[in-house]
Amino acid sequence: MAIMMLVFVLSGGFVGGLTGCATSPATGETVPKFISDEQEIAIGEEAAPQFANEFGGEVDDPVLRRYVSRVGGQVAAVSDRDMPYEFYLVRSDVPNAFALPGGKIFITAGLMRRMTNQRQLAAVLGHEVGHVADMHNIQGMQRQMGQSALVKVAQVLGGEKYGSVAGQVTQVVTSMKLLEYSRDQEHTADRLGVRYMTRAGYNPRGMIELLSVLDRLSNEEKSKLGELFRTHPYSSDRIDNVREHIQANETYRRAFTNEPDPKADEFHRMRNRLKDIKPPVKPPDNAREA
Ligand SMILES: [Zn+2]
Repeated sequence: MAIMMLVFVLSGGFVGGLTGCATSPATGETVPKFISDEQEIAIGEEAAPQFANEFGGEVDDPVLRRYVSRVGGQVAAVSDRDMPYEFYLVRSDVPNAFALPGGKIFITAGLMRRMTNQRQLAAVLGHEVGHVADMHNIQGMQRQMGQSALVKVAQVLGGEKYGSVAGQVTQVVTSMKLLEYSRDQEHTADRLGVRYMTRAGYNPRGMIELLSVLDRLSNEEKSKLGELFRTHPYSSDRIDNVREHIQANETYRRAFTNEPDPKADEFHRMRNRLKDIKPPVKPPDNAREA
């Protein structure tokens, strides 16, 4: 009996799963979470290839891929949550960025093409790391799929339970594409993005520049952007939120300057390489992240 109990507890494998709660290392807040970090990582790992395919597949240029990984790695290394972060540049020309549970982060060629310097790239990747660090995406999946379905997916993908891995992956990808973050979560991810990019040595002005790019896109290219801004509208108060946050913190205030980005040339060289990358033939469906 004692052994049976032990097996049960171990197969649960985590305290958070038994209580359904976890503490966010980014904000210190208690969040509902029904699967372990290990399961969360397994979900992301299994779903990443199919998710990349949905957005045209990875850009077939190792130099560009290494560049995005390097900038992403800089903000991930100083994040509040230790996860096996990985960064993917995908071919879709629709501007977007996403974070899967477990730290797999995607940015489209379309978004990179519309940015103008490296600190904007650090800002968007820092924002996505923020969604992972504060566990927004896993909470969103819980809402989308329901707690028990998510636990089952996690158990199958984590190898603890037998079932169709392909079927579970499809469920994850579908729910990620439907995922919506709350306005509060967007603001939090923007603030965490500022935190991580500043820790990594970037001027937090890049976050304001990034949001200005999104603002312009939401006005000028709305029809082309499809679901991104239709279902997940960009809100102009995000810039105010970031400005206030920078003003209120001495470290960010000191790091903020109006100087041009010293890494802009390198970014432009990389962005030029995207000229040779053809977008996928079939325009991909859009998920709802910004
Ligand atoms: Zn976001």
